[in-house]
Amino acid sequence: MVRVEDITESIHSYNPDANIDIVWKAYVYSAKVHRGQVRLSGEPYLSHPLEVAHILTKLKMDAVSVAAGVLHDTIEDTISTPEEIKENFGEEVFSLVDGITKISKIEFASSEEQQAENYRKMILAMSKDIRVLLIKLSDRLHNMRTLEYMSRDKQEKVSRETLDIYAPLANRLGIGWMKLELEDSAFKYLHPDEYKEIMDNVAARYEEREKFIKEIADIVNRELEKAGVKAKIMGRPKHYYSIYNKMMDQNITFDQVYDLFGLRIITDTVKDCYSTLGIIHSVWKPIPGKIKDYIAMPKANMYQSLHTTVIVPSGQRVEFQIRTEEMHRIAEDGIAAHWRYKEAGKKEEKAVKIDERFAWLRHLLEWQQEMKDPKEFLDAMKIDLFPDEVYVFTPKGKVLSFPKGATPIDFAYYIHTSVGDRCVGAKVNGRIVPLKHQLNNGDIIEILTSPAHKPSRDWLKIVKTSRARAKIRNWIKIEDKERSVALGREITEKEIQKYHLEPAGILKPEAVSAAAKSAGFSTEENLFAAIGFGKYHVHQLITKLIPAEKIEERKRREESRFRRIVSRITKKPDESKIKIKGVEDVLTRFAKCCNPVPGDKIVGFISVGRGVTIHTLDCPNITELKYDKERRINVEWDLKEKTLHKVKITIHTVDKQGILADISSSIASCGVNISQANIETTEDKEAFLDFSIEITDLDQLQNVINSIKQLKGVLKVERVKEYKKQKKAAVT
Ligand code: MN
Repeated sequence: MVRVEDITESIHSYNPDANIDIVWKAYVYSAKVHRGQVRLSGEPYLSHPLEVAHILTKLKMDAVSVAAGVLHDTIEDTISTPEEIKENFGEEVFSLVDGITKISKIEFASSEEQQAENYRKMILAMSKDIRVLLIKLSDRLHNMRTLEYMSRDKQEKVSRETLDIYAPLANRLGIGWMKLELEDSAFKYLHPDEYKEIMDNVAARYEEREKFIKEIADIVNRELEKAGVKAKIMGRPKHYYSIYNKMMDQNITFDQVYDLFGLRIITDTVKDCYSTLGIIHSVWKPIPGKIKDYIAMPKANMYQSLHTTVIVPSGQRVEFQIRTEEMHRIAEDGIAAHWRYKEAGKKEEKAVKIDERFAWLRHLLEWQQEMKDPKEFLDAMKIDLFPDEVYVFTPKGKVLSFPKGATPIDFAYYIHTSVGDRCVGAKVNGRIVPLKHQLNNGDIIEILTSPAHKPSRDWLKIVKTSRARAKIRNWIKIEDKERSVALGREITEKEIQKYHLEPAGILKPEAVSAAAKSAGFSTEENLFAAIGFGKYHVHQLITKLIPAEKIEERKRREESRFRRIVSRITKKPDESKIKIKGVEDVLTRFAKCCNPVPGDKIVGFISVGRGVTIHTLDCPNITELKYDKERRINVEWDLKEKTLHKVKITIHTVDKQGILADISSSIASCGVNISQANIETTEDKEAFLDFSIEITDLDQLQNVINSIKQLKGVLKVERVKEYKKQKKAAVT
């Protein structure tokens, strides 16, 4: 069992001026409250908090964090109370212990929604102080080391959680050794057979491997000496879990993976790193695409090294990692390599701020407040925890990292929200590229903006960062709201006109605001938005705004058949209709059953929560809906911009050579594209040709039909209106 002296000595080794009194005090208190408790291993419970504290000293944590490590289980597992901890150890120690206690209560790995909520809680807990996370990681590491005493169920659950959450977090904080140990120990419990197989295989090749590595190392040493470069060469620790992953991912055997040998070279200076790389390449041929310069472009977790893989004469591949002592320290200790403790005589520096290099963590905290949808949040979390990164430059030469597949839009939103919102294109390495261009390592990116430009819904399909996604969603939300407010207002105005009243006279601000309030909406805008989205019916509003006698009057009018016919004849055609553009958008959708084409007679139905669905007037699916006045709205085409619509035509001809070519060129001569064609011939020398063509409106379709009709051998041309049967739910 680790002794408290081991812990305090360890603190003094990296911070000679640390005040260790608090650690002693925590030890005495913890020993008292945990007295009599025993771990499943049979050891006194106290051994666990002490081991955790010892791991914390390996992370070079300050004395306060180490003390919190000693106390981390007291609130949860003993009779001690939060007040007692606060009183005895002060606010700082208490808030760390409290943070750990909160994380421990989180149950991971349940439903997706629950899981997202848990991540959120954990991030909140560590957002106050990243030391909470480091204590939690140390706690988990010691629990993994002693997992053998747990039940099989518990082993699997804890190991899964470790692989899913804690190992990625350790990686993100750059603590290489901890990530490896967490992964290997979790692997051992999750796949015991595979773990043993790999371990046995590694052991069996041990001697052969050591001999080979020594031969390679000797050659490198000799060459480096000749060039006057000082360096240390070492083999690399085995990581069973990554061998396993390679076998699984690439579907290869142990021998094929293990054919890769790894060596690490530590030099004095950065210059020597590059010299060493050159020397290695002068001895063996490097494999193209395997040379990685993480010195010029560090990973997001601050990792720096040169990587190269070469082929030696025996045909084996050898991977080298070349780095300085300092880079090696960062690769192993990560965030811990950045704690600074002040010189002798001054007070221990306590506050551990989230370094600028851990911007991802800060961003995650910001985003989690914006992302209310758990699924969305979980996706963002996964992207941020498992990055596969590319490194690109700003025009001024600053290096930024992005997830693989990121686009200029991600880059633009990283720079600033307003740059993202107005982004129209980008120059990559001086050449203009489309917005869907995927960024590559080393690209220099310059964003082109236009003040009037707006984000597009389609961007959501191509962005990769959670920041860009959140910003675009936010923009869409605002725009949808504006559009639905405008539509709701328009629907209301048209409805008022049906009562032969002047909308402006009825929609007085005081009246609308009172109506909104009585319907439970906080603002007029919310009321109109609800009408636009079909969540609140315009009739409900009308009864609040229009005097009852007017409503009665209209009813009477409608009931009179004669009047109805008269009004239909005298009604001016356009005034009560909502204008529909040729393209679908947030609030208008074209029914899939009848596929309306500009020029068709159409009718709209308000669908709850989805705006307006447009059907053709003769669509059989609407027969029931047709008389549902509540939902029905009058619509008409508003065709300022032309867009393409797919329609089917069927042509009946005599089966004669060249007829297909004639028809195709006749369609093309009308400026219309054919997207699909299908031909059937009959025994009595006739043919049926079905075409899918893309037209802008009915006039153009008529042109196409007319020009085909004029061809020799054509018997009949028709537009096909095949109404797909639709479930009622899809129509409403
Ligand atoms: Mn614990």
